[in-house]
Amino acid sequence: HSKEVAGGSYHFYDEKFGKRTIESVKYENALYRALERDEFTLYYQPQMDFCNNRLFGVEALIRWNHPEEGLVPPDIFIPLAEQTGLIVQIGEWVLREAVSQLKKWHEKGFTDLNMAVNLSAAQFEQGNLHRIVKQVLAETGIRPGQLHLELTENQIMRNTDLAISTMNKLKQLGVHLDIDDFGTGYSSLSYLQRFPLTTLKIDRTFIRDILFDEDDRALTDTIITMAKNMDLEVIAEGVETKEQADYLASRKCTLMQGYYFSPPIPAKKLENDFLTNH
Ligand code: C2E
Ligand code: MG
Ligand code: MG
Ligand code: MG
Repeated sequence: HSKEVAGGSYHFYDEKFGKRTIESVKYENALYRALERDEFTLYYQPQMDFCNNRLFGVEALIRWNHPEEGLVPPDIFIPLAEQTGLIVQIGEWVLREAVSQLKKWHEKGFTDLNMAVNLSAAQFEQGNLHRIVKQVLAETGIRPGQLHLELTENQIMRNTDLAISTMNKLKQLGVHLDIDDFGTGYSSLSYLQRFPLTTLKIDRTFIRDILFDEDDRALTDTIITMAKNMDLEVIAEGVETKEQADYLASRKCTLMQGYYFSPPIPAKKLENDFLTNH
């Protein structure tokens, strides 16, 4: 979605950040200032229930409103934020911002709306994450069941014991725990059962060729069946066409997210396009 990029190229950011080049240090400083200067913003992507064509929830996706480069997508700066540890502060900002936006939408009468927030491993392994989540929920009065926290398989496989205990604390608060990009990571079925999950998000690489590629279709069918058997919700990511949506619905996967419904959009646009008729 290059249209999000206002002019300019990213060659400046494409440095190998692994080597601490001068560029990467500059960039780190810029990221740090971005937080202070309030240059981050959240876009929201609808998650639809295809059964009744209703908005089930939204996923908060961060962008950096860079003074010179324009809107910078997360794949460009989240990796560096993770390497530098800044992700912990950025992630807390995202959580607070997303939940307070959800509160505003609830106050406008859309009380069924859910919010999904992405977490990074460092945040997840921080030790006080459940306290932060608890505090944010208490401050806003949002019901915990309306907050989905997204983690990837690899994040939870880094340190499975820690992951399980953190997830149990979060689960006790009543929030949902969603596995993002499911099917692309290194988790095994036996591990999956040990995690207190609520939702699997099927990665968009499986959805992309679902109509043409038998293997992708078999995998998707398996994930859907497995989710049902494990009593988990399942959401398909990256749904771009009506045909893909129809196929998924025929397999009884009705929660969907993707460009077919909408790309991630600013809060105001989401209100205009999705939150008008009560
Ligand atoms: P993700 O959490 O898997 O988010 C979905 C990504 O897929 C988004 O990219 C979204 O724009 C894109 N997408 C949605 N529908 C479609 C579709 O139909 N087709 C295609 N081709 N793409 C689609 P985005 O917003 O650039 O985010 C990329 C990744 O950055 C996210 O992947 C997530 O891992 C990370 N990220 C975004 N926001 C945050 C955040 O606040 N915190 C952390 N830790 N990571 C974040
Ligand atoms: Mg996500
Ligand atoms: Mg994903
Ligand atoms: Mg991802």
